[in-house]
Amino acid sequence: MSQTIRVLIVEDSEEDAELLVRELTKGGYDPTVLVVDTAEKMNAALERNTWDIVFSDYSMPDFNGLRALELLRKNALDVPFIFVSGTIGEEVAVAGMKAGANDYLMKGNLKRLIPTIERELSQAKMRLDHRQSEEMVRHLAYYDPLTALPNRTRLHERLQAAIVAAQFEDHPMALLLMDLNRFKEINDTLGHHRGDFLLQQVGQRLSEIVYEPNMVARLGGDEFAVLLPKLTEKEDVHAMAHKIIEALSKPMMIEDLPVVVDVGIGIAVYPDHGANAETLLQRADVAMYTAKEIGKEYAIYEDRLNRYSPRRLVLLGELRQAIEKNELLLHFQPKIDLQEHYVVGVEALARWKHPEHGFIPPNEFVIPAEKSGLIKPFTEWVLNAALRQCHAWQEEGFRINVAVNLSRRNLQDPEIPDLIATLLSTHRLEPTCLSLEITESAIMEDPTNAVKILTRLSGMGIEISIDDFGTGYSSLASLTRLPVRSLKIDKSFILGMAENKNDAVIVHSTIGLAHHLGLNVVAEGVESAALLEKLSAFGCDEAQGYFISRPVPAEDLIRWLRESSWRLK
Ligand code: C2E
Ligand code: MG
Ligand code: MG
Repeated sequence: MSQTIRVLIVEDSEEDAELLVRELTKGGYDPTVLVVDTAEKMNAALERNTWDIVFSDYSMPDFNGLRALELLRKNALDVPFIFVSGTIGEEVAVAGMKAGANDYLMKGNLKRLIPTIERELSQAKMRLDHRQSEEMVRHLAYYDPLTALPNRTRLHERLQAAIVAAQFEDHPMALLLMDLNRFKEINDTLGHHRGDFLLQQVGQRLSEIVYEPNMVARLGGDEFAVLLPKLTEKEDVHAMAHKIIEALSKPMMIEDLPVVVDVGIGIAVYPDHGANAETLLQRADVAMYTAKEIGKEYAIYEDRLNRYSPRRLVLLGELRQAIEKNELLLHFQPKIDLQEHYVVGVEALARWKHPEHGFIPPNEFVIPAEKSGLIKPFTEWVLNAALRQCHAWQEEGFRINVAVNLSRRNLQDPEIPDLIATLLSTHRLEPTCLSLEITESAIMEDPTNAVKILTRLSGMGIEISIDDFGTGYSSLASLTRLPVRSLKIDKSFILGMAENKNDAVIVHSTIGLAHHLGLNVVAEGVESAALLEKLSAFGCDEAQGYFISRPVPAEDLIRWLRESSWRLK
């Protein structure tokens, strides 16, 4: 079968054009041909159609080949262009090639026509493929696959360019950062897919109100940014903030369910709040955090805001320094077996002793660390410190199992099992010396990956528990598919048992159900003897809480072990 080809011929002689068509047909092509002989006709042809190849005479009464070539390239068309001329001399031919023609053929000798077409078409296709794959790589590097919005890298580049331009042209510009309040809750309640859908809707609404040269980007998770590279007045940022709030104020329909999202927006303005990308990003972030703290929809950065805020400390890299400078430490809290009355192990809980701000509790820096990418070095520090301590205890004759909390981000890191294996062997410890605690919402965020990683860890002989059970929305049954040994019922239920009958019922039935599923149950937050007794009567397996011991430094734990009525097995 002959191959179709769209051919544009720039030629004043009908005869010559016909000759070319005949050669094409003879060579196995089925050409669609248009012949033009003026610049106007050529322009019209380029506008109306796409062409596979262009043949052009060199000199014509009302047009010429070099001009035709220029028109083609001006349309940025990477279509092969071939001179076909009877008069062309070698020098002119070379000039034509230099001007961007792909080849030239002599009218009297069209033997090369078919091989030339084949070569040029295949090269054009290769160039196209190459451009497409480059475009794809660029797209992957710069765009967020979920919302198709520019990503953090792209924002960063645009922000840097905008600062340079603003400096040069001497005008203000602004960066707005926002995240959705309670997105985690929405995600947990409605599920991952609907959470993704919601983020897409938010991206869509923002795109509808932000247009060039302004830019909207998704930075990851539920964080979005709007860049305003050129402001006439600094006060214009208020208008944009109101526009965003208004655009997101109408409920989003998630599978017929109206969901209301609200945002906290933080704004930093160039040049007032910073003169480089990092500072503006950090300050917009501080402003966003402040907006949330004071319950406002948006806040513009002010110097006095830049005071102590754990999120800010994490962002400023102080957590990284804290890891390096040993400002972090671990406290250990024992877990006891309620039925057999012995110490099962300890949970390692991180503490940050900041030289200026004093003690910062883990709840305040773990989430910011997840967002800023510091969670990996942080978790590595915790694992290393916990295992080093475990080894030191063994040297002193105490075999104590240490439980370490993993964050949701750790569960998406395929390198974590290898890291743990390396640390275990560095500290010459059996895998059974280590347990890992993972919150149920962390698993539900990306169950497929979580199951993969947990299966590997559990295969290594490490025990896994589900932490804070009851605060998420996973069913007990769904947990049976996980390689989990125990459930830790969240302390809010345990603490509630004292006054709230309903909590006692929930705890009792969770224990029963978990046992049916072959899971061990741990109660955390046991603050009194009465609670301990009740839990024991409910058949709860293990307990942890202030009544038994607060989390304490390693030395104090040994003293506690020697003095308390609880013993190691
Ligand atoms: P968690 O893993 O559920 O840890 C139990 C928390 O309950 C600890 O708070 C502990 O001090 C507290 N607690 C223990 N017994 C009682 C009690 O009887 N009553 C009350 N009211 N509270 C009790 P902490 O140390 O502030 O840690 C809070 C959370 O921070 C932890 O919750 C855990 O999710 C996270 N965290 C702590 N260390 C790390 C870590 O190294 N890595 C990660 N990813 N998260 C950590
Ligand atoms: Mg825990
Ligand atoms: Mg817990």
